[in-house]
Amino acid sequence: MAKKKKSLDPLMDKLVSLCKRRGFVFQSSEIYGGLGSCWDYGPLGVELKNNIKRLWWEAMTHRRDDIEGVDAAILMSPKVWQASGHIDGFTDPMVDCKRCKHRFRADTLQSEVCPDCKGELTEPRNFNLMFKTFMGPVEESSSVVYLRPETAQGVYVNFQNVMVPARQKIPFGIAQIGKAFRNEITPGNFIFRTREFEQMEMQYFVHPSEDDKWFEYWKDQRWQWYQELGIRSEKLRWHEHGKDELAHYAKTAYDIEYEFSFGWKEVEGVHNRTDFDLGRHKEASGKDLRYFDDQAKERYLPYIIETAAGADRITLLCLADAYREEEVKGDTRVSLSLSPKIAPIKAAIFPLVKKEGMPEVAKKIYQDLKKHFKVFYDDGGAVGRRYRRMDEAGTPYCITIDGQTLEDETVTVRERDSMEQSRHKISELVDLVGKRINLRE
Ligand code: ATP
Repeated sequence: MAKKKKSLDPLMDKLVSLCKRRGFVFQSSEIYGGLGSCWDYGPLGVELKNNIKRLWWEAMTHRRDDIEGVDAAILMSPKVWQASGHIDGFTDPMVDCKRCKHRFRADTLQSEVCPDCKGELTEPRNFNLMFKTFMGPVEESSSVVYLRPETAQGVYVNFQNVMVPARQKIPFGIAQIGKAFRNEITPGNFIFRTREFEQMEMQYFVHPSEDDKWFEYWKDQRWQWYQELGIRSEKLRWHEHGKDELAHYAKTAYDIEYEFSFGWKEVEGVHNRTDFDLGRHKEASGKDLRYFDDQAKERYLPYIIETAAGADRITLLCLADAYREEEVKGDTRVSLSLSPKIAPIKAAIFPLVKKEGMPEVAKKIYQDLKKHFKVFYDDGGAVGRRYRRMDEAGTPYCITIDGQTLEDETVTVRERDSMEQSRHKISELVDLVGKRINLRE
C-alpha cells in the first residue's frame, strides 16, 4: 500500500538525517522501501538506547532494595488480555477522509474536516490496537494470541512468583524493560510513535491507604531521573489527566511531557492503577492474589503505582534535547550535547598524523581505554574533520596523540561542548575520562 510521506518539522528533518548519516537510526527494511513506522537502531543508536535503559534499570533496581526485575514473555495467554480489558477496550476512535482516504485518530483532530485536504470525515469507529497472530500451525480463532500492547500485565500475573522467592514485603516494586506493540492508527514523528517500541515500566505495590503518598513519591523520583539524564528542565513539565482522559483503571495519572519541536508530548506516565488489575486477574484466574500482612494480620489486594516510560521516545527526547548548531569559523558545527553518561562513544582516539610512531602510541591508548569504556579509533582525514564526526556522534572527549606525546607521554584532550583542549598524561586518561562520564567516583 502506498504510504503518505509525512513531512516533519525542520529540527526533526535534521535529526532524522543526522541519525541516518551517523548510524543512529534508519528505516526498517529500507532496501525494500521501508515498513511504515518501523525503525532500526544502528551502531550508535543501540549504544545510546542501551545506555538509557541501563541508567533506568540502575535507578529503578540496582540502587534500591525494594524493586525486583523481571523479563516476561511477549506472548501471553489471551485470557490475560480478556481480564485486563484490552480485548474489549484497548481501542482508539478512527476516522477516514472520504476524499483523500487518509486515516486519523478522532481524538487528536482539532477540526471536523480532514486536516490534509479539508474533506469530509467518516463517523468515528473503534479500532483495537492489539496485533494478533496465531500460535501453532493452525490459523483458527482458538489459536489467536496477541503481541503484548504493554509490559505491565507480565508483571501483574507474576506478582506472587516474584514476591515470594525475593522475600519482598509491601511496599515493593517490580520493574521490566521490554518490547510492546500497538497497531497505532497514526504513527509518526520518527521514533516518537511507532507500532513496535520498548517500554521501561515499574509497578509498585502498596497498601490501599498509602496510595496517594506513594504516588507523590514516584512522581518526584521520576522527575529527578530526567535531571540525572541532563535534560533541560525548562523543556519538561507535568500534565495531569483530566476526568475525560483518565484510563478506565486509573484513579490519578500524570504525564511527564517534553517540549519537542512538534509540541509538548508525553514521554512517561505515572499512574495510580488502584487494585483494578490484580482484582481482574484474581477474578478471572480464580487465584487469590491478595497479600497477607502477617504483622497486621490483614489480607488485601494491593494498589499499584505505575511508572511507564518509552525507551524509544526517551531516546528521541535525548537526541532532540542535545542537538546543537553553531557557527564556527564560517562553518556550521553540528553536535549532540548528550550527557557523557549516555553518549554512545565516551572518547575517540586520534593520531595527529599517520606516521612518526603516532598510530602505534594511539592504538596502545585505544586498547587500554577499551577495557573500561566504549571508545573509538580514527586516523582518517584531517583532525578537524575527525572532531566534527565525533561532535555529531555526541562523543564527549577526543584524545589526540601528537609530536609532544612521543617526548613527554602527554596527549591533548578536547572537550566536545566547549571545544577546549588541555594536556594530560597518558597514565591519567582512564581516571580522567572515567570521572567525567561519572563511572568512577
Ligand atoms: P500516547 O498517549 O502517546 O499514545 P499512552 O498514554 O498510550 O501514550 P502509555 O500506555 O502510558 O502511553 O505507555 C507508556 C509510555 O510508553 C508512553 O509514555 C510512551 O513513552 C511509550 N509509548 C506508548 N505508545 C508508544 C508508541 N506507539 N511508540 C513509542 N512509544 C510509545
